[in-house]
Amino acid sequence: MNKAQVQAQMDLLRDKIREANYAYFTQNREVVPESVRDQLKQELIALETQHPDLITADSPTQRVGAALDSKLPKITHKNRKYSLGDAFNANELMEFDERVKKFLKVENLEYSCELKVDGLNITLWYESGKLVRAITRGDGFIGEDVTHSIRTCENLPLTLTSEVDLEVSGEVFIEKSDFEVLSRSTLITQSAEPKVDLEVVEEKKFANARNLAAGSVRQLDPKVAAERHLKIFLYELGDFSRSTLISQSDMLKVDLDSPKTQTDLFNFFEKLHLPHQPNTNFTLHNDIQSVIKFCDQWSNPKTRETLNYDIDGIVIKVHRLDYRQRLGHTAKTAKYAIAFKFPAEEKFTKLLDVQYQVGRTGAITPVAILDPVDLAGSTVARATLHNREEIERKGVKIGDQVIVRKAGDIIPEVLEPIIDLRTGDEKKIVFPSHCPECEVALDLEETVARCKNLDCPARHRQSLFYFANTLDIEGLGPKSIKAMLELNLIHTPSDFWQLKPLDLATVPGFKRKKIENLITALEAKKILTLAEIFTGLGIRLIGAENAKIFARYIREHLESPTLPALNQFLETFDAGALQDAFVHLDSVGEKVALAMSDYLKSDRTKKLFKDFESVNIELHWPEEIIDNNSIFTGKKFVITGSFETLSREEIKQMVTKGGGKILSAISGNADVLICGSKAGSKLKKAQDLGLAIWEEDKITDTKTSNDEAEGVLSLF
Ligand code: AMP
Ligand code: ZN
Repeated sequence: MNKAQVQAQMDLLRDKIREANYAYFTQNREVVPESVRDQLKQELIALETQHPDLITADSPTQRVGAALDSKLPKITHKNRKYSLGDAFNANELMEFDERVKKFLKVENLEYSCELKVDGLNITLWYESGKLVRAITRGDGFIGEDVTHSIRTCENLPLTLTSEVDLEVSGEVFIEKSDFEVLSRSTLITQSAEPKVDLEVVEEKKFANARNLAAGSVRQLDPKVAAERHLKIFLYELGDFSRSTLISQSDMLKVDLDSPKTQTDLFNFFEKLHLPHQPNTNFTLHNDIQSVIKFCDQWSNPKTRETLNYDIDGIVIKVHRLDYRQRLGHTAKTAKYAIAFKFPAEEKFTKLLDVQYQVGRTGAITPVAILDPVDLAGSTVARATLHNREEIERKGVKIGDQVIVRKAGDIIPEVLEPIIDLRTGDEKKIVFPSHCPECEVALDLEETVARCKNLDCPARHRQSLFYFANTLDIEGLGPKSIKAMLELNLIHTPSDFWQLKPLDLATVPGFKRKKIENLITALEAKKILTLAEIFTGLGIRLIGAENAKIFARYIREHLESPTLPALNQFLETFDAGALQDAFVHLDSVGEKVALAMSDYLKSDRTKKLFKDFESVNIELHWPEEIIDNNSIFTGKKFVITGSFETLSREEIKQMVTKGGGKILSAISGNADVLICGSKAGSKLKKAQDLGLAIWEEDKITDTKTSNDEAEGVLSLF
């Protein structure tokens, strides 16, 4: 054979293999027996071995490539990835239905339901019909590049039937039958240091198929992923365009109209040979009552047992994509979809003992040590008993048979003892009066017992771990941090950046590679947002959302957006005035405002931030990306009344991102009043002053028209 003939032969083999794989893995039918599929593959491998120059990256033989040598690269998503709101019962589904219909101003609405596959969310980029990148969801903005692992998904085409550019998302998972085999084999290696917050009850690393799938995808060596038989279902289309490079030889001219509904979307996927859930599990409903029935059917664990993959709910989506575009998103979730979560599972088992964990805020959590029991897809050996009062209220004793409940990702909990099963040998639980770590007397005044010792080694360790975990610094697990503390290598968070390779070499488990990786990981985290730092510091009552609100406020009061300016601010601010100002921020209550101003005024905090400055941490501000060409640009706004589809915080963000400013009160200084329903005196005052008055529609309209202008087909 001459070269051209070899090439033609290879093309033919590749097409045949792709076709057979698609039929087998995606359509569940065999066009050729498995032995023939194997033979075709062997022939192709033989030709490729003789002619390595003719191997193409998308050849079906090339799924398992070389291992990456360090961390997974970070990739910025083309379109923000959102998560889903939850519904736990029929009422919440009906509320969702009302909300959506009200917004769309329609009487009737069709919904599509899909099973909520319990796996790992992945976004794929195809260019000219070739798979070029696979990215984890990450924080919704930035994910990790896991192309090397995702290429091994058996049902995923590396080449589509048409040379299109597109962005699609879906779920990667491992089938139950594969998981069974894998968990019995020796393939599953426990990672050296599980990334579990000690405050959360620990569980085995790969307790279920979901964890195993997630662990496999993030492996550096694609061989590992290949052994795990990953599968993928796609359900969402981001960007889509025909490639400018459609070649003459694009034999399979596929008719690709832009999908208008979820049904169209799945047909569109089929034309491209992209895998999706079997049509039997995708249903269309004329109204919410029919949706509720469908959710009921699947709530029965017996129905779920018929599937070969785990699901943790039903995803309900508005069927029409143009409606979805109009509905848009809140800060975190899609407004046009909701996840119905199955009711929790309960079982009973024996309570063997109680241990007490000290959290980063000093909170003492009693943890039940249980006779291990299989529950909602994982083995549960520890469960929370919440706090001292709960133990008393439930009257649980050691040795009791107790009812344990677990729902989805929620930490398992002990509900109550089964009194009838008592033998008389049960022992009363004696709650400690002193901290199990530092032995200082506990504060037992409130519901949650607390160790108030700021120097408590447990609190200290937990805080440092929480910080490292929040900033997602790989290589700083609870064990390493414990060892570093014992070796006196670290005291405060900023010390992480002072760690030298020679010091690290003394920490058990730290070999050359691990040391290098940690140093690189730390270097990569030298530029942080203030909100990230606040969140990482684990300030009591301050979660990620509050941290953002405070960071934004403080930013507006800094001389310059730098850490030295922040430190100057911390030296000079008036704590009382700041607390007052905080209370006036939206969604900040008095307790939270007090917790934050107290935190900021403490000398420890001041020292902490000085230390960050001295190790050259730099601040960056995500809000800096400002559109100076919007309806908000250059204007000053006051907000009043209540809004149907946007939260105040969202409106504020839209204004600031659009280059406008928010004022808290009406004065001659303001330009526009953004006015919801039930507006009070502010509206009158604004009218008197002759300010422009904008209603909710005016800003929601800009939201959609902006999206359209960018040509973003933000479909689900
Ligand atoms: P949660 O993580 O509970 O907020 O649920 C949202 C996640 O459900 C998404 O990020 C997806 O990874 C996952 N999911 C599973 N199946 C589907 C589906 N058919 N449609 C949308 N999301 C799904
Ligand atoms: Zn203590």
